[in-house]
Amino acid sequence: MKLYNSLTRKIEDFSPLNTEMVTMYACGPTVYDHAHIGNFRTYTLSDLIYRTLLFNDHRVKFIMNLTDVGHLTGDNLGDADTGEDRMEKSSAKEGKSAIEIANYYIKRFMQDYEKMNFLKPEKFTRATEYIEEQIKLVKILEEKGFTYTTTDGVYFDTSKFESYGQLSGYTVENVMEGARVEANPEKKNPTDFALWKFSPIGVKRSQEWPSPWGTGFPGWHLECSAMSLTELGNTIDIHVGGEDLRMVHHQNEIAQSECATGKKFVRYWVHGAHMMVDGGRMGKSLGNAYTLTDIEKKGFDPMALRYFFMTSHYRSKLNFTWEGLQSAQNALKKLYELARSYSRDPSAKVSKDFIKKFGEKINDDLNMPEALAVVWEMIKAEVGEPEKLATLLKMDTVLGLRMEENLALETPQKVIDMAKTRAEYRRAGIWDKADQARKQLMDMGYEIEDLPDGKFKLKRKI
Ligand SMILES: [Zn+2]
Ligand SMILES: [Zn+2]
Repeated sequence: MKLYNSLTRKIEDFSPLNTEMVTMYACGPTVYDHAHIGNFRTYTLSDLIYRTLLFNDHRVKFIMNLTDVGHLTGDNLGDADTGEDRMEKSSAKEGKSAIEIANYYIKRFMQDYEKMNFLKPEKFTRATEYIEEQIKLVKILEEKGFTYTTTDGVYFDTSKFESYGQLSGYTVENVMEGARVEANPEKKNPTDFALWKFSPIGVKRSQEWPSPWGTGFPGWHLECSAMSLTELGNTIDIHVGGEDLRMVHHQNEIAQSECATGKKFVRYWVHGAHMMVDGGRMGKSLGNAYTLTDIEKKGFDPMALRYFFMTSHYRSKLNFTWEGLQSAQNALKKLYELARSYSRDPSAKVSKDFIKKFGEKINDDLNMPEALAVVWEMIKAEVGEPEKLATLLKMDTVLGLRMEENLALETPQKVIDMAKTRAEYRRAGIWDKADQARKQLMDMGYEIEDLPDGKFKLKRKI
């Protein structure tokens, strides 16, 4: 497998440090709000890497984190040490505790994760469950002389880490030309960052912990280092994230991890490119940072979104439009229909030629547009139908388009049962329950059409 490594800025051959087990970490969501299509593009990338590694017969230990503390709003302006804690802000806005907010959005995230058919990591690690490990990491850095304390926290002195800027291109010297906002006068270097922040004087935060330096909370960058080191060891193979994390978050993860362990932190850094919407910027404030619910409300299947993401290379900017999503859904629907129409033979073998060709594309730095082209080439080729089907199912272990589920010609019993339950509710006039059942059917991929006399017809959504 070849992967573009953001650290060396080259396409490199991937080989794991330990052939027994590939280690992989992905920066997950900050759970203060719903995830949006830009986030899903990044998680599609980590999922495709994960699935490609499995396709190549690797064993993989994959960890994804959930940020439930310490991610400050200043990050939007390039300085994650300033601004409000997103969790605390959301907590004040919604009148709930930060833990309630986190639990709610984690639950929603897990539903979306399942809908996108992302393979589950070995663990989703929550930042607040690794406070002890984070404090320990700061202690090590303090003992080794990499930290200093200001009135608002414990900071990492980036001038003490020789290779600072290797990933970001931002060094202690050239950062002034960068986009940093008003420098904190107590910081020794503009690139320095908080490891531990103190709770503001006179303020009781919803989430805070005692530490040797004072009550407060961990810096955002610290959590990923602490969780990665704890769960996967000093050096891991692959770390995945959106390109917005490369300049600061990931550079700082490298600094604190490598200074603490003296070992290389990550061997391959993989970053996914930004998304645009209708040719412009995507943002919550612009109202176009669509959630999965927005997508489904417009009649799209999450699998169509997944297909849409795969029509572009992960390192190219992708422009989201509803028309683009519609053509992805059309293509997927055609693929499903073809697959359902094929004659079946359980003993059919895959087409070795097409699997080989497909493998070459996915292993070429995840060239998914060309991998999809191989799928369509195979569909049109002179290959027997049972063989085509077997090949398609094998390819789908990477594409993750739920091909197998969509082969079921019969409507699953649980769908029929749900529809019957709904009909009973309707007869009894319990409309809210009937509506709930209809929504559940939608989630299972079925639309229901009511016919006279309490009868109904079930239709597969796509
Ligand atoms: Zn990361
Ligand atoms: Zn992270």
